[in-house]
Amino acid sequence: MDEFDIIASLFAPLATSVGSDLLRDDVAEIITSGRTIVTADAIVEGVHFLSSDPIETVAAKLVRVNVSDVVAKGGRPTAAVLSLIWPETRRLRGAEELPRFADALGAELRRWGAQLVGGDTTSTPGPLTLSLTLLGCCGPRGPVRRSGASAGDDVWVTGAIGDGWLGLEVALGRLSEISAEDAAALLGRYRTPEPPALAFAGVIAEFATGSVDVSDGLAADAGRLAVASNVALEFDLSAIPLSDEAERAEKRAPLKVSLERLIAGGDDYQALFTAPPCHREELAARASGLGIRLSRIGTARAVSNDAAPSVRFLNEKGETLALARSGWRHFGDDGL
Ligand code: ADP
Ligand code: MG
Repeated sequence: MDEFDIIASLFAPLATSVGSDLLRDDVAEIITSGRTIVTADAIVEGVHFLSSDPIETVAAKLVRVNVSDVVAKGGRPTAAVLSLIWPETRRLRGAEELPRFADALGAELRRWGAQLVGGDTTSTPGPLTLSLTLLGCCGPRGPVRRSGASAGDDVWVTGAIGDGWLGLEVALGRLSEISAEDAAALLGRYRTPEPPALAFAGVIAEFATGSVDVSDGLAADAGRLAVASNVALEFDLSAIPLSDEAERAEKRAPLKVSLERLIAGGDDYQALFTAPPCHREELAARASGLGIRLSRIGTARAVSNDAAPSVRFLNEKGETLALARSGWRHFGDDGL
């Protein structure tokens, strides 16, 4: 199969708009009536996924890391553009893996209400690299920004924190203390994180004042929300939602697994957002109606005159947790 066969036979069928010539022309035309948002996230073999990961979970992760951005902004995915950069050394496996990749990609995009509208296909002497550009639509107020949090707002987070990081530790063979079932569950959450359900985008759009997706670690992404909104975010450590597997890992391997590491680790792909306390009950009710785990984990406070925006994690005694490293950075702590 050359690149044209790949596009025509594997990817064109994923463009499902009736009567369209998507993926059969040089460009795709996108006509929207409302407000459109766009995001792009790339995943690289050896950095965001492991060579040993099944190609189906790689496809699902590619979609979900982008979906988490769109949903956190209160948007719904609509269209996707794929850059597929396939390793020369994987060419033989490609005949078998590419159809599996395309099937999984199509299923995952459909699940989130999006379709493939274009992309590019090349080969590389480097690692498997996949970039997805995801478009989404949002309501008349536009995307929920990082900058919208106000002093007095509650801070909420969807899902559980730390499973992605724990799953990576499992994959790297660094967490042998836990049971085989827990290891498998955590590895699954690293390979295929579960962003908040599509229906929750509407709840975020309706109630959230500020919002960010948690991908580089709760502490680091909370810092971005705090800076953009110029507030001090104060978190209650005991309210941070953990999965049963994470709680057991904390007990079995206390030297390796601490709350501090769970909030610094990445790959959660949950939404962290603020909302005024008057919406507390309704938010909780809407989340539970949708079967979504939603936790109120902190408060936004005003920044005093000479202070900078900040993030603090407080334990039951009111002591502040000192964080050594607040999240994943691709270019190291000193930047480029
Ligand atoms: P170009 O000459 O511009 O590189 P291509 O042959 O790469 O054109 O692409 C032809 C059509 O197929 C375009 O509509 C492009 O968007 C689409 N396409 C190419 N690769 C992919 C892919 N991996 N996924 C989705 N669409 C793709
Ligand atoms: Mg091209």
